[in-house]
Amino acid sequence: MSKAQERLLDWLRDAHAMEQQAETMLKGQAHRIENYPEVKQRIETHIEETRDQARKIENCLDRLGASTSMVKDTAGSMGALGQAIGGSMTSDEIVKGGMASFAFENLEIAMYRTLITAAKEVGDDETAAVCEEILKEEQAMADWLDQHLPGLVQQYLKRDASEDATAKR
Ligand code: MG
Ligand code: FE
Repeated sequence: MSKAQERLLDWLRDAHAMEQQAETMLKGQAHRIENYPEVKQRIETHIEETRDQARKIENCLDRLGASTSMVKDTAGSMGALGQAIGGSMTSDEIVKGGMASFAFENLEIAMYRTLITAAKEVGDDETAAVCEEILKEEQAMADWLDQHLPGLVQQYLKRDASEDATAKR
């Protein structure tokens, strides 16, 4: 196996760990949101996509002969970030969560762009195609957040100004 092929496997394992972390984070967020139904619904849709992404990456690793036990070893490399995002309980958690989600989706975009480049480099067109599919979903989520964060912040500020206890989540 070439060095580049080994790197591709490392990064696929990282992506798998990232998706597991994403699921934990998104579930934590969706569970806590009470007064921002639009955000909650979009996150729930992305939870389904995220589960599917983890499966797709696992299939890539299987096809390339990488063991699933090795997948679990790297889980948690993005753990701290995911935990921080999913378990936030600040008085502005809906806003902090939105900011963190936008950052996380863009991290995923960078991860999949890297994987696509590496897969093409070693001639693994199948892995490249799978990562292109996933990239579209991450891009769509990042775009949604990009478009909806200003409105979310405005809504939060309005509720916060009226001492509305429902503002934070
Ligand atoms: Mg993802
Ligand atoms: Fe995502």
